[in-house]
Parts: sequence; C-alpha cells; structure tokens
Amino acid sequence: MTIHKLFPTLVYSNALQTRGAKEFNRQLSRECLQLRHDDVAGRRWSADNYPGGYTSYGSVHWLQRISPTFKALERKLERHVNVFAGTVQWDLDGRELRMTDCWINIMPKGVVHGLHLHPLSTLSGTYYVRVPPGTPGIKFEDPRLDRFMAAPPRKAAAPSEMRPWATLPAAAGRLLLFESWLRHEVVPHRVHGERISISFNYGWF
Ligand code: FE
Repeated sequence: MTIHKLFPTLVYSNALQTRGAKEFNRQLSRECLQLRHDDVAGRRWSADNYPGGYTSYGSVHWLQRISPTFKALERKLERHVNVFAGTVQWDLDGRELRMTDCWINIMPKGVVHGLHLHPLSTLSGTYYVRVPPGTPGIKFEDPRLDRFMAAPPRKAAAPSEMRPWATLPAAAGRLLLFESWLRHEVVPHRVHGERISISFNYGWF
C-alpha cells in the first residue's frame, strides 16, 4: 500500500546569519523605534488599520531603498530566498526575485494582526528582531480549508502537517519565508514588552 502525500505547503525557517545577529538586531531595533517616532503618517495609518500597534506598511514600505541597514538585511536574505525558490521548484524563466516591499511591525501587548495574505506578491516573509519571551509565533492556515465542505475536523492529536492550522515559533534572529498566497495571522500576546518584526515581499515580474 502507498499513501501519497500530494501538494505540500512549504514554509522556510532559518537563522538569518550564523554570527553577529545580536548587534544587527540592536541596530534594526534602533531604526524601527526611530521610524515609529518620526513617521506621523504611519502612526495615523496604524491607528486605523493596526490598532494598538505600529506598522510602516501604509507609509514607508520600501525600507531597503532608504536605509543601509535594511539594504544589508535584503542582502543577507538573498541566499535564503534562493534556497526557498529552488525548494518550491519555481521556474522563474530567467527572471529574478526582487524585493518589492519591506516594512516594520511593532506589536505591544494585545495587538492582533488578523488573517491575511499578501496579494500581488510572489514570496513573502518575516524577520524577527525582538521577541519577548512568551509571545506566540505566526499561525498559518491550510490553503485548502475553503474547499473542505463536509470533511470532518481533524483529530486534535493529529500530526502537525495534518492539522488545518500550524503555528511556527518566532524567535529573534530567525526568519520565515512562504509563498505569498498562504494565509497567516499573528495572535495577540499577553506579556509585557513589544515584539518587533520586519516583513517583506518579493516579486518575479
Ligand atoms: Fe503577513
């Protein structure tokens, strides 16, 4: 007998770099907090769209173009992005995956980032700069969920790859990459302290 496992959903997880993460994250942290301080339009946008938190998604979403530190992040991401693109077997037809957007998310206690995907993008991901202990990771949803109709729920003790949702831990210095159509959310955390992450999109067109 053979049970075929078809159509896998791949999420890449790795440390951004083997050395120097602390120093790099200190610099990123500084710039993230400075941008929140300076970015009046972004704070206004966040008040409407990201209640309780700050994101530069609606105001400054090309940080790789204006900050050498974020440009350095883009360079460090390159080898990870290439490994992921190879693993998902993308035929890019000679084109390059290029970072189109890069923005900041700061989540204090109780802030939620509801289920969403990243339209008009090919590959998306997040790099974690500061993660207070006890804050949850990122939750991914089975992309086939809307077709399950009369399918029974999975057993609570089912192996993680068989469940309709999977939460991957967030840790400072680590990054996640996934295909942009994969729906995900960040549930609110209950600990003191702010969680800082940097999200980005890549396109191949
Ligand atoms: Fe996202």
